[in-house]
Amino acid sequence: MHKGSGCRRRRRLHWRLAAAYAVAAIITGGAVVPAAAQADADPADLVVTNAYVWTVGDELPTAEAIAVRVDEIVFVGSASGARDFVGSDTRVIDAQGRMVVPGFNDNHVHFASTGRLLHGLNLLDVSTADEFTGRIRDVHERYAPGTWITGGDWSAYETWAEGDVAEAGRQVNADDPYGSLFMPNRRMIDGFTVDRPVLVRRFDRKVYFANGRALEIAGIGPGTPDPDGVTVQRDDDGEPTGVLLNPVSGAVESTVLVRDNVARLFGPLIPPASREQRVEETLRAWRQMAEVGVTSYSDVTSPPEQVDIYRELRERGLMTARVRYRPPLDEWESMAALGIRVGFGDEWIRFGAVKAWIDGIMGNSSARFYEPYTHDPDSRGIWRDIMFPFERSPDDPEEMQSRLERLALEADRAGIQLTVHAIGDEANGYLMDMLERIVAKNGERDRRFRLVHAQVMTDRDIARAGQLDVVAEAQPFHASDDMRWMEERIGRERSRGAYAFRRLWDAGAVVSFGSDSPGTNASRYYLNPMLGIYAAVTRKTLTGEPQGGWFPEERLTVAEAIQAYTLNTAYAAYEEDIKGSIEVGKLADLVVLSDNLMTMDPDGIKDVEVVATIVGGRVVFEHE
Ligand SMILES: [Zn+2]
Repeated sequence: MHKGSGCRRRRRLHWRLAAAYAVAAIITGGAVVPAAAQADADPADLVVTNAYVWTVGDELPTAEAIAVRVDEIVFVGSASGARDFVGSDTRVIDAQGRMVVPGFNDNHVHFASTGRLLHGLNLLDVSTADEFTGRIRDVHERYAPGTWITGGDWSAYETWAEGDVAEAGRQVNADDPYGSLFMPNRRMIDGFTVDRPVLVRRFDRKVYFANGRALEIAGIGPGTPDPDGVTVQRDDDGEPTGVLLNPVSGAVESTVLVRDNVARLFGPLIPPASREQRVEETLRAWRQMAEVGVTSYSDVTSPPEQVDIYRELRERGLMTARVRYRPPLDEWESMAALGIRVGFGDEWIRFGAVKAWIDGIMGNSSARFYEPYTHDPDSRGIWRDIMFPFERSPDDPEEMQSRLERLALEADRAGIQLTVHAIGDEANGYLMDMLERIVAKNGERDRRFRLVHAQVMTDRDIARAGQLDVVAEAQPFHASDDMRWMEERIGRERSRGAYAFRRLWDAGAVVSFGSDSPGTNASRYYLNPMLGIYAAVTRKTLTGEPQGGWFPEERLTVAEAIQAYTLNTAYAAYEEDIKGSIEVGKLADLVVLSDNLMTMDPDGIKDVEVVATIVGGRVVFEHE
């Protein structure tokens, strides 16, 4: 591993995984077969050869070939050595010298929303009538009859150009609080959406658009009074145009501050998505993962129903990526009562971690800092509700304790892994303080506390993250996206501690990578790991700015960035003994890439494509 204590950890982990497999064997009816049970003389089911295999393993950094039996790697070595494993039924993939890496493991995916955005409506880059009509027509043809089309977030990139600063769009005109952005009209879609209700919104939620059917369901027509707190735009004949306006006072930058009366009006009228639609969305998101080489991921916010969909699709043989599902910290008690702790589940669906949020985000300047924002001297950002109430600690009458800390202490005691969102430097600092108290009270343990985002940290906290064996659950593409305005919001000195991957790594923290897909209304975070590796290695925007990289001293090497996206994320999930590197005995989760990341110009990494993705020995994606 990346640090000296790896071996000690690994031994302990063997024991833990053995226990987990016992549980898995019960769940799956005893289908777990120990690796050593098979004879080495049997031919393999799959051989990948003539490859540049980047193993991320300790002993053999590179190899030419891999042999796989069922779902497990049984050989890593030379192309000639692999020939012994080729039998009459063996599938042989000739990689033609291409790079093969372990399947990517995304540490942070909002899975249900990713599926919704991929399968449903995405208008982020739309700001013309033709595109608007076309996108809605596509979804209309995909969706079951009568299902509502919602979401969209049109004109997002009209304001925030993707990969570049759109200065003009960021100037808010105080005389025109709704801005001069694209406005849809019922003429654009009513012709083909007769029986289909459509309610879509602009990215800033100040403006919504409803088609004729949705207006009818809401009881809005010519001559009807405007609903409470909503302005209905009408044409010269008094006919609603479809545009519905929320009240806006002055220049509002943040969606948090918009009074979303339209959403409140329509909320009770829109039924939840059907099971069939959720299944479609799940399959669509997995298809995307396969196309970009993601073979494992942490699902951070999907509703509980998603777990049952995972189960169903797995039983139907349709699951193509392995998941670790995290319920909210508040749920720790029911988890503990069911015996769910670190390791629970199997190599496809696993539990054992909980998640919490303690501050806001950089995107709308709500992340919590020790000092006020540079561009807004009245604000230091916010704490989330879970920090309150702040009460006397039951352990020590002189100590005050947040609700978060009480829950965290108890969940930790129950053997559950803690993962907590922290963006601003004070949020990260608070968590380091809290972790020190948890260690003092509950004792030293292999707890792998996941500092989610670890976005802006002080020098002291970067050092502490190493001392406390913290996992920095980072999403490097955020750096490419945020560097465009970071310094204007928090200044040069604090920006030095933003996405400080190099210093976190050197301090001894385990730096793990992921995507944070699908992103916010102002930024799209794609599942593609190449964008994250590109960001970590170059520290540039998608358009290649600035020359030489932003705080280039924080760059990682390509090898480190790959490890962060594979082995280190497996470690973050207590799964480094079965995933994360190409070694005998591990799961055969592999990706063939179009180019060799180790030898190419790093500026080109963002455009590298996946040629094939293999999960558990099964080819789940092939280019062309
Ligand atoms: Zn997130």
